[in-house]
Amino acid sequence: MPRDAPPSEEALARSLLRWYARKRRDLPWRRTRDAYAIWVSETMLQQTRSKTVVPYYDRFMRELPTVHALAEAPEERVLALWSGLGYYRRARMLRAAARRVVASHGGRLPEEVPLLRQLEGVGDYTAGAIASIAFGRRAALVDGNVARVLSRLYAIGDDPRSARGSERLWELARRLVAAVDGNPGDWNQALMELGATVCTPGVPVCSDCPVKTHCRALATGAVADFPKRVTRAAQATVRRVAVVLASSSQVLLARRRKEALFGGLWEPPSAKGGLARLADRLGIDAASLRRSGEVVHVLTHRRMHVEVARGALPRRGHWAVPGSEYDAIEPVALGELGSEPQRRAYSTLTRKVLIVANVAAGGLRLKR
Ligand code: SF4
Repeated sequence: MPRDAPPSEEALARSLLRWYARKRRDLPWRRTRDAYAIWVSETMLQQTRSKTVVPYYDRFMRELPTVHALAEAPEERVLALWSGLGYYRRARMLRAAARRVVASHGGRLPEEVPLLRQLEGVGDYTAGAIASIAFGRRAALVDGNVARVLSRLYAIGDDPRSARGSERLWELARRLVAAVDGNPGDWNQALMELGATVCTPGVPVCSDCPVKTHCRALATGAVADFPKRVTRAAQATVRRVAVVLASSSQVLLARRRKEALFGGLWEPPSAKGGLARLADRLGIDAASLRRSGEVVHVLTHRRMHVEVARGALPRRGHWAVPGSEYDAIEPVALGELGSEPQRRAYSTLTRKVLIVANVAAGGLRLKR
């Protein structure tokens, strides 16, 4: 291919769709055209790998198989089913949107992107996925995988995270999905599948790529240069202390306020600042605590360092919430942590904290 020739889009689409028909992974949400199921899976798949999502998706669909079931479920129940998947705002939004679908759309998801976009938590990507995969609409989508594949195929010189880069990618994705001779849902999924399995972030397997003859980055020997990356500011570091008060049968957990980071999730009480201050808020003697270790947990915009201290759980009828980040606190039976179905929602950070404190947390259903 000449250096600056654009890929032949007809041939590109044919090759990619043929490859997808043969090689696509058998994932549970690919066995259905149910718009609700596709919506749930696409929401879970944001920022999370398919392999991680499968058991969560299966459990969620078993427990809340319809949009009505989700709309009627208590928020705590939905968060518990989401425990360990991270980005819990997605779960809250999903439930809020389900309520709207029931109240305003008779329980049926809208088929068009503009109406889908009006639902809580449904952005351009999710709307495009639902419209194209569930309803066969010629709607485009761009996620991290699609951005990487298109950036390399077309040697796009802008960072996909920049406004200009994102605009160019969406424009290209719209043009391609409008032109492709085939099912738009399959086309979108084929692009994502290529990004997930062949055109991967580190070193792509170009030798196995069904569209290698169309790839401009490969033709110019510059695969490693795409997608373009403009260096971002360093992640903020957040330091906290966590106190794990446990007996042989119970551990003290507090629930984070809805508005806080990890809102609605249960965890051992923690705070910014020193251990003495947190111990004071809990009404215990800091000298009775033993340092267990440190947990490092990386989120999109921050890196959390949590110093973990452990102590014995005193018998007490009432606990005061330790600070404004919490709205409830109580001792929880250790057996409940691994119970199925899970009653409360916990984050992966909580699991790490409990493991460092040597409290049996193996049963907690959380992503590693
Ligand atoms: Fe990606 Fe390589 Fe295929 Fe180009 S040839 S699309 S870089 S896997």
